[in-house]
Amino acid sequence: MVYVKLEHNGYIGFGEAALPPYLPETQDSVIHFFKKAAPVLESNINLEEALTALKTLSKEDTAAKAALDIALHDLFGKIEHKAAWQLLNLEKPAPKETSVTIAIGEINLIESKLKELESFHLIKVKLGHANDREIIDTIRRFSQQPLVVDVNQGWNDKYQALEMIQWLHKQNVLYVEQPLPKNNLPDMTWLTEKSPLPLLADESFQRYADMEKILGHFNGINLKLMKSTGLGEGKDIIMEAKKRQLKVNIGCMSESSCGIAAAAQLMHYADWIDLDGPMLINNDPFTGIAFTDGKLVLPDAPGTGAILTTDLPFLS
Ligand code: MG
Repeated sequence: MVYVKLEHNGYIGFGEAALPPYLPETQDSVIHFFKKAAPVLESNINLEEALTALKTLSKEDTAAKAALDIALHDLFGKIEHKAAWQLLNLEKPAPKETSVTIAIGEINLIESKLKELESFHLIKVKLGHANDREIIDTIRRFSQQPLVVDVNQGWNDKYQALEMIQWLHKQNVLYVEQPLPKNNLPDMTWLTEKSPLPLLADESFQRYADMEKILGHFNGINLKLMKSTGLGEGKDIIMEAKKRQLKVNIGCMSESSCGIAAAAQLMHYADWIDLDGPMLINNDPFTGIAFTDGKLVLPDAPGTGAILTTDLPFLS
């Protein structure tokens, strides 16, 4: 995790890059990008121009760009006394049910883990293992809550995948994310045509430009700010997806309340949200958002609404 702070005339905006180990960006690459971006940001006092300029600095660096995009929306929101969703001309995000991931380790711990997550009404389960049915059967012994399923490219055979999806359909599952390997689009088309559940692209969908690529192969997308370079492109993605009748889940990596407060700015337009980042970490330096009765609640506050509560060792 790398946090960033932007200051202008006494106003401060915070942003965050979440860096899961399976993706190419590292702390070093993010800091390197920030250094490259510093002169651009210093000479741009307009939000739109700053965001456009950041895009031209490199092709990748999506999480580093997202961190600066989030910090810019937070900063300009505070300067203009507007929430980030207002800066983006979006509808006000009402509290929304979020899914929360149950970590599947030992089967015999599932009952106690479900108890810990009792206040949430939508559970996310990661499948793609040899004992997928046993996992779901065990959950269903203790909970009848609706489930969402993420296979993380874990099924390889389309016939078995369809059989599983048809079975999951009877288990009160709402959608299945990335059932097949990301480049296997022909089999995805076959599967989507026959699936009784919406199938969402996560690994197969990164940026706005990928929308064309996945059309017809999936029913929807999993939008994450760390993939989309932040709220600027995130807004474009969600609006275009709605226009094309794609379902949208807003997901996350393992962001703190800083990154989640940013993603929540878009949630009015999402079919589902999976913004449980702060539940997955135990060192959240931010507050501001709340999880109330399973719903993610944004505060009425300028910027993203994230508030720093501890001293972070910012470099300069
Ligand atoms: Mg996923």
